Amino acid sequence: MTNETTAPASGSIMVVGGGISGLTTALEAAEVGYDVYLVEKNPYLGGRVAQLNQYFPKLCPPTCGLEINFRRIKDNPRIHVFTLAEVEKVDGGPGNYEVTVKLNPRYVNENCTCCGDCAEACDTEISHDFNFGMNKVKGAHLPFEMAFPARFVISPQIIGTDAAAKAKEACKYDAIDLDMQAKTLNLQVGAIVWATGWEPYDATRIDNLGFGQYDNIITNMMMERLASPNGPTKGQILRPSDDQAPESVAFVQCAGSRDENHLPYCSYICCMASLKQATYVRERYPEAKIYIFYIDLRAPGQRYEKFYQTIKDDPNVFFIKGKVAEVSEDQATKAVTVVAENAVTGEKTKQTVDLVVLATGMQPTAANAKLPADLKYNADGFIINDYEKGGMFAAGCANKPADVVSSNQNATGMALKAIQTLARK
Ligand SMILES: Cc1cc2nc3c(=O)[nH]c(=O)nc-3n(C[C@H](O)[C@H](O)[C@H](O)COP(=O)(O)OP(=O)(O)OC[C@H]3O[C@@H](n4cnc5c(N)ncnc54)[C@H](O)[C@@H]3O)c2cc1C
Ligand code: SF4
Ligand code: SF4
Repeated sequence: MTNETTAPASGSIMVVGGGISGLTTALEAAEVGYDVYLVEKNPYLGGRVAQLNQYFPKLCPPTCGLEINFRRIKDNPRIHVFTLAEVEKVDGGPGNYEVTVKLNPRYVNENCTCCGDCAEACDTEISHDFNFGMNKVKGAHLPFEMAFPARFVISPQIIGTDAAAKAKEACKYDAIDLDMQAKTLNLQVGAIVWATGWEPYDATRIDNLGFGQYDNIITNMMMERLASPNGPTKGQILRPSDDQAPESVAFVQCAGSRDENHLPYCSYICCMASLKQATYVRERYPEAKIYIFYIDLRAPGQRYEKFYQTIKDDPNVFFIKGKVAEVSEDQATKAVTVVAENAVTGEKTKQTVDLVVLATGMQPTAANAKLPADLKYNADGFIINDYEKGGMFAAGCANKPADVVSSNQNATGMALKAIQTLARK
């Protein structure tokens, strides 16, 4: 037994990606005494979880989990957070990396009190990416209410315009610097954990499912934003074509996943996400009919199976085992008809609904933008952990499709791998 609380070896760890996995790795390593550089490309931390309405299976808002992590980060001087930051270059090897990080300008400094005057004065609106373009936001804005760091950002899209000048003029705290430039940092670290996460698979590529062609077909991540109290409809689930409440909703499972033409693998979370979203619909519309078209329903483990059983007991939720082959729209009513072959009866099933939700899967971020480091990827773009070589590791959805619980477990393990690299230096 020892009262020694310092880390067994000194050194720093870089964590790339400030989603739930990156936050976990950073905190686990920092709380046992290591210095951590947390590099996030967005102006805020939290990753995709920040965009969810509720977590399955407990159905609590993601703010619970995120806020605790943000508090732990604030209280820990060993974690150095860089937002709007990206790794440009990695040189060296395990125990001794030199990393070049580019810091993009936020145009707002630490004087910001989040008073909102700049947004009030700014008369230009831009598409709100956080809400998948379903609404607009001022060119000067807070990314979302509980954003961490709690600091406004000026979109590069309005730099050089009158709207930016008006925002600056409105700021009483000298917090806006429109001349802010990108900076480069060189950091020495012993290990790097890549927690760069995932992106929703681009649903416009799934030609037969009508996304982008018909108004009332949305993706599961858009559903999360519609259901969120801080989303574009303030938590109301409305048909995009006419902002009316849907009386019927169809979920199309494996939209792009388990399909050789798109993502050949199971995305792991989209069955549970649809079951959860069925509760969003039910909560708002007690009479609405819900149709879930699936190939197989995957609800792994005891808690998820129990969650599935609860939804199954709802008499207005109908499960149809069949892969959706096509969708069509009634031009007058904008209702959508979903066609599938029922795998149980062998019959062609047609169902007309007010709103269709595509359960689109996860694609690793690195599939579309390779990282500037000597990493190994599988055929789908997930980073393979090479433990023999060591030094650099992938955590969470950068490594495989995962829910929050398994992302956290995996991220904790990768913190240990990073620490072992430093201890062996
Ligand atoms: C519709 C839907 C609903 C879901 N609901 C639930 C749920 O209820 N419960 C649950 O357990 N799970 C749910 N999930 C899964 C959950 O979203 C993931 O488990 C979680 O996001 C994984 O976190 P992550 O940190 O690995 O990745 P991410 O959340 O993707 O975070 C990655 C972070 O890395 C940053 N980044 C990416 N590339 C770079 C780079 N090059 N440089 C710097 N930063 C970078 C990103 O900006 C992001 O902040 C759901 C998923 C979907 C699709
Ligand atoms: S930048 Fe200035 S005006 Fe805008 S929210 Fe911050 S303190 Fe207020
Ligand atoms: S989790 Fe369900 S919907 Fe998602 S790919 Fe796997 S089987 Fe299909």
